[in-house]
Amino acid sequence: MRNSSLSLIAATLALGALPALAQTPAPAPAPAATAPARPAIETTKVEGTEGVYIFRNVNHQAMFIVTSEGVIATDPVAYGRPTGGKSYVDEIRKITDKPIKYLVYSHHHYDHIAGGKAFKDAGAHIIAHKNVTERLKPLNDPNTPLPDETFTRRKTIKLGATTLELLYLGLNHSDSNIVMRLPKEKIVFIVDTLPVGQVPGRGMIDFYPLPTEEWIGKVLALDWDRLIPGHPGAGGRLGTKKDVQDQLELLQTASAAMKKLGQEGKCWEPAEKEFAMPKYEKWPGYQNGLPFIARRYCGLWGRGT
Ligand SMILES: [Zn+2]
Repeated sequence: MRNSSLSLIAATLALGALPALAQTPAPAPAPAATAPARPAIETTKVEGTEGVYIFRNVNHQAMFIVTSEGVIATDPVAYGRPTGGKSYVDEIRKITDKPIKYLVYSHHHYDHIAGGKAFKDAGAHIIAHKNVTERLKPLNDPNTPLPDETFTRRKTIKLGATTLELLYLGLNHSDSNIVMRLPKEKIVFIVDTLPVGQVPGRGMIDFYPLPTEEWIGKVLALDWDRLIPGHPGAGGRLGTKKDVQDQLELLQTASAAMKKLGQEGKCWEPAEKEFAMPKYEKWPGYQNGLPFIARRYCGLWGRGT
C-alpha cells in the first residue's frame, strides 16, 4: 500500500496535477447530530433563583424578574427586530399573568433598548439613568419610548419579595450605563462594559477608557457572585468576579500598548497597524475586536480624548 501510495504521489507530481488537487474543496462536514440549532428566541431561568430569568433574542439578552406582585423587565433588545418587544412580552406571559410593572433600560443604545412599545402597551413604567433621556430625546426614535422616570446616582425598586438596585457608578460604556443588582440573589446585570470571556469590539466606540478602569473597581467592590451580560458570554455562561478582573487586565494591557505608540506620535494609522495583544489571540472576538480597541485607545493616547 505504502509503495503504491508513493507511486501515485510521484505520478501526480509528474503530471503537474498537485495544484489542481490542492484546490479541490474539502468535503462539507457532516451535520452535527447532537447539537440542535440554537433557537433565535429563548428564555432561561437562572439556576438557584425563585424568579430571575434571561430573555435572549439572537445575540442580545436581558434579565427579568417575576415576583408575586408583578414583573420587572429590562432591555427590550429589539433593534432591527420589529416584533422583538412583543416576543419578549409573550415569553413573560408564558411564565406569569402578573402585570409587567417596570421596564428598566441599561443604557441608551438602541441595540439593547429599542422595542419598548410592547412593554408600554402592557402598562410598564420605564426607568433609566437621566442621560438616557438626554441622549434619546433629540433623536426621537419611533421604536424607543422615552423613560417615564429617571435618576442620577441610585434608585431601588421593591416589588413582592424582590429588591433591585439601579446604580450609576460613573462613566463606562457610554455615559448612561448602569449596574442592576439583586442583593438577595447576589446577581448583577451589566450590559456591554464587561464581555464575559470575550474581547470587546464595537462597544468601544463610545467607551470612556480611564473612567472605566475606576468604574470596574467599584463593580468589583459590590457584593455579587454572578454577572448576567447583555450578550451571551463565552459558551453561554454567566460571569464571575474573575471575569471582571480579567477584563480590567485586558483593558489595561491595551491601554499600555497604545500609550507607547501614541506617545511616539504613531496614531492613527501606523499605531493601529502595529497594535496587538498577543496574550488574547485565542480569546473569542480577538480579530474583530482589535481594530475597535486600537481606534479607541489611539483616541486617548494620540489625541487626548
Ligand atoms: Zn451599548
